[in-house]
Amino acid sequence: MIDTYNIEIEKVTKSKILDFDVTDIQFGKHYSDHMFIADFDGRSWQNAKILPFGNISLSPANVTLHYGQSVFEGMKAYKYENGDVALFRPIDNFKRINISAERMCLQQLPEEVFMSGLTELINLDRDWVPANEGTSLYIRPLLFATDEYIGIKPSDVFKFMIITSPAGAYYSKPVKVKIETHYSRAVAGGTGYAKAAGNYGGSLFPAKAAQEQGFDQLIWTDAITHEYIEESGTMNVMFLVGDTLITALAGDTILNGITRDSVLTLARDWGVNVEERKFSVKELITAAESGELKEAFGTGTAATITSIYEIGHESESYKLPESMEFAEKLKNALEGIKRGILEDKFHWMHVV
Ligand SMILES: *Cc1c(COP(=O)(O)O)cnc(C)c1O
Repeated sequence: MIDTYNIEIEKVTKSKILDFDVTDIQFGKHYSDHMFIADFDGRSWQNAKILPFGNISLSPANVTLHYGQSVFEGMKAYKYENGDVALFRPIDNFKRINISAERMCLQQLPEEVFMSGLTELINLDRDWVPANEGTSLYIRPLLFATDEYIGIKPSDVFKFMIITSPAGAYYSKPVKVKIETHYSRAVAGGTGYAKAAGNYGGSLFPAKAAQEQGFDQLIWTDAITHEYIEESGTMNVMFLVGDTLITALAGDTILNGITRDSVLTLARDWGVNVEERKFSVKELITAAESGELKEAFGTGTAATITSIYEIGHESESYKLPESMEFAEKLKNALEGIKRGILEDKFHWMHVV
């Protein structure tokens, strides 16, 4: 795959790795030595390069800056005990960036551009994949429009880049969430299912308001009635009601999380009853009041599984039971697979 696609490589003269303190990793603050970049010139993908991580130059008329014609992905590389470096479900991220790209009129990426850029970059910066339990190398692919034209039309030229950042042991603290009943993240027919830049810009203000009210995060509801649970800011949400694991169907207002799919796959494999369906706030509250609601948690690449200990809705608040046994079991199973310690029954790992 790598030989068929020619990547020009310019290495750093001196690695920054020795200045980097692996015992004090702050997420998103440090970037590895190199980055991948490729251009679509209107006809084909070319100029595939691995360069020292650094600034790029853009015209002030760049269409992405004005109109947000831009999408991204989030994925991780892990270090096995034997020193191998492996990616978790990279083909699923590749497929999803093209689903996002289609919605935003961005050029489709060929699999070899995505996969060879990714594997070459990770291979070159493999020392940046931390080895301690819970740590990983966060990978951020991004695809954006580069027309220098401030009329509104789909761009003809694009850039695809990959940058990476070491991520520390994410001992995610349980969170207190607010069920949002005023603002919306996504609406049917909109861009909610795409990892499109503007979706995140637009959710900052409601999230900040919730934080000022003492919540860690939001749970979005449907934009029309605010009666049905959708997802959280960068996580899908799931509820264990009795013995049944319930989550919203991944329709066009919900980001189809790869962690979500992995969790549902594991749960089904363990014989847990899984329901992907509309789940109303009313049903959630009834289950919380009767004690049938055992656990609630978010799923996503950043923290894998984040337990929810309290849910606020309008002026009421609902506390969840202390036990997070199921969430812990899922988290340990996923971590074991990602570290090469547990059997990779579903062929999720891709050794670089
Ligand atoms: C990325 C993201 C998720 C989680 O997806 P993963 O593939 O599991 O990381 C969930 N919701 C939103 C809105 C997201 O952007």
